[in-house]
Amino acid sequence: MQPLNLDTTFVTSLRCVLCGESHDPRDAEYVCPRCGDEGILDVQYDYERARPFFTPAALAASTERGMWRYRPLLPLPASAPVPPLETGMTPLYDAPRLAAALGLGTVLVKDDSRQPTASFKDRASALAVALAGLRGASAVATASTGNAAAALAGMAASTGTPCVIFVPASAPKAKIAQLLAYGATVFAVEGTYDQAFDICMAACRRMGWYNRNTGYNPYMAEGKKTAAFEICEQMGWRAPDAVFVGVGDGCIIAGLHKGFADLAALGLIERMPRLYGVQAAGSDFLARCFETGQDPLRAAPIEAKTVADSISAGLPRDRIKAMAAVVRTGGSFVRVEDDEILRAIPDLAAHTGVFAEPAAAASLAGLRRAATEGLVAPHETVCIVATGSGLKDVAAAERACAALGRHTISMSPGILTDQRLLDEALAAARPAR
Ligand SMILES: *Cc1c(COP(=O)(O)O)cnc(C)c1O
Ligand SMILES: [Zn+2]
Repeated sequence: MQPLNLDTTFVTSLRCVLCGESHDPRDAEYVCPRCGDEGILDVQYDYERARPFFTPAALAASTERGMWRYRPLLPLPASAPVPPLETGMTPLYDAPRLAAALGLGTVLVKDDSRQPTASFKDRASALAVALAGLRGASAVATASTGNAAAALAGMAASTGTPCVIFVPASAPKAKIAQLLAYGATVFAVEGTYDQAFDICMAACRRMGWYNRNTGYNPYMAEGKKTAAFEICEQMGWRAPDAVFVGVGDGCIIAGLHKGFADLAALGLIERMPRLYGVQAAGSDFLARCFETGQDPLRAAPIEAKTVADSISAGLPRDRIKAMAAVVRTGGSFVRVEDDEILRAIPDLAAHTGVFAEPAAAASLAGLRRAATEGLVAPHETVCIVATGSGLKDVAAAERACAALGRHTISMSPGILTDQRLLDEALAAARPAR
């Protein structure tokens, strides 16, 4: 692969989150050469030079509607081709009935189930495939619990790039079917996501594939930060008071933090929203560190187990940035049980029409908890991020509805011949609430 040349962008350097040293993108391929794999890099920009290109007026005049409208603050030269799948500028819905049910004022739903491969991960994978193309990579690869893989496979398919995937064999069927349909080579690792991650790292080193792994490739948070840009642009260049999002590896919450921080640095928003990372009780590495004050870099991995496969991570790869996102914005980590996560699927769907997979519904479960505990006030504007579609994990939605007693009403076609039976049966149809 050729070295990455970002000289024509507003990127100044890559700064290590551990030692603070700055590196040229040509020299530091993924992580800090001094610190190794834990030395995750953070992309730095020259905000003064980028400012004239990143104004509300300039963006309003942009003909680019998706995430590439924010290219002045992305690590990609203006001339670099991007995958054709339309990524970003997903809807931001006002959800007044959900807000009322929670006793809150304004609840907004950022609906990233609407991305081309049906999850938030498209924002990062689109950038990964663009960067791989720029470097002339022979193939792109990632380890994933499912969505990052589907996103990479879909983006790769859209550009004709070979794609290699490592998933835990336990990933939901829909996600694996999606990978195979996109034509990726899929290795189903009989083990955990964390083990699939290590195998992918070794494979990329050996084969020279472009590595999209979360919490290793420094550019993935840059793609993900576009959601924060969109939320503020959609709100008329204001920021919400608080944002809730499911956290596994911590890259999404780190990306949101970066996006809001970019806007604050440019003076486009007045203050940062508080960021709340929602973790499943069975995968609560960061919530534990937050509560005990333990350094996430030194804490021992846990054994992760949750119905929300997309936020199942025994050792969150982006734990340093994720902890900083929460601590620096005055937010917190919120822990929710699997049954609260499952409950949030029909809760969100019936109140807003947005159908989310467990990890995405976790944002609502976390908000419900936080509202009960007084972490958010009724006058505040709160945004929850629906990070993935409910169609990704139909079994979980079925379980959630069954637990609520929501079931189909069986009906024989013969009922048409008997008006009385028909009336009786239809009486069961209550208006949905
Ligand atoms: C990946 C993912 C998350 C969590 O993102 P992290 O960066 O791993 O914290 C949440 N929801 C969905 C649907 C995801 O695919
Ligand atoms: Zn370093």
